[in-house]
Amino acid sequence: MPAVIATEGAWVPEGGLYELVRALKRLAEAGGAELKTGEPVERIEAGRVFAGGSVYEADFVVTDLDAVRLEALLPSGRTSVPKRLTPSGVATYAVMGELLPSGVPNRTVLLPADTEAFFASLESGEEPDQTVVFLNHYGPGEVYPNEKGTLTLQLAVPASGRSYDLADPLVAREMRRVEDALGLPRPLTSYLEDYFVLDPAYFAKWGAQAERCTVGAHPFWQIGPLHCPPYSDRGRPRLWRVGASVHPGGGVPAVLSGAMISTARLLGRLDS
Ligand SMILES: Cc1cc2nc3c(=O)[nH]c(=O)nc-3n(C[C@H](O)[C@H](O)[C@H](O)COP(=O)(O)OP(=O)(O)OC[C@H]3O[C@@H](n4cnc5c(N)ncnc54)[C@H](O)[C@@H]3O)c2cc1C
Repeated sequence: MPAVIATEGAWVPEGGLYELVRALKRLAEAGGAELKTGEPVERIEAGRVFAGGSVYEADFVVTDLDAVRLEALLPSGRTSVPKRLTPSGVATYAVMGELLPSGVPNRTVLLPADTEAFFASLESGEEPDQTVVFLNHYGPGEVYPNEKGTLTLQLAVPASGRSYDLADPLVAREMRRVEDALGLPRPLTSYLEDYFVLDPAYFAKWGAQAERCTVGAHPFWQIGPLHCPPYSDRGRPRLWRVGASVHPGGGVPAVLSGAMISTARLLGRLDS
């Protein structure tokens, strides 16, 4: 990411990332889709989806649920816990009482001084001494339609399921590293008016398994074109997958391109 940002820059939709969701909604509705929210899917059978007390008949079911969660909704009802986990994060979203000094770039990425120690910590599930830190900040009306400045601070941490706040030693230590790198005259927290923190304890509520938030990391023979799970398989020809669990994986650009590949293959199969 730092290399891409340094050479090509980073692009943000005007209005923020949620504009992408709104644009997809408009596209879907223009294509005749009816969107229903607030109805968690409870079970998926061949050509049938059970959600919110209703049964929906379907020629094909396309799902972007995390692979482990999806398995639990299928007739096999398999529940499993991946042996290896990708890192989780501590993400602070803040409204600013005062803007950062002019000249502080909108986006900053700090890498750990010792990357090998960092990877070893994440691998073993231990908290690293230093981690990867992303800091984004925007003034009022810059990108987002807000009256005040906004700031996000994101740290990669192991998927431990634990809670964090800004006083946590790792977070406080990394904020000092940000302050030094940017030459801030005051502590970062003194610029914030209000904030909330999403941490591994929060992500655990939505993620692949009961205690942790992230999906399992794949062994090398299941990456790239051999990615598991596939977009669709012979055993369940009416079930198609999109989302972070399928190739090429997580992150909004990857999820969108994976959805395009999966959909093109589904449509191609219908044509043939
Ligand atoms: C804090 C944070 C910051 C991030 N920042 C970036 C970033 O800057 N750039 C980037 O590219 N990526 C970023 N990501 C990663 C990106 O958000 C994910 O990779 C992407 O959202 C995954 O898309 P998805 O469709 O697979 O899953 P999700 O976006 O998680 O969508 C799955 C949906 O399924 C719903 N769901 C779950 N269970 C059920 C059920 N039983 N029935 C019905 N619906 C259900 C969930 O509520 C959710 O809406 C970030 C992630 C986090 C957590």
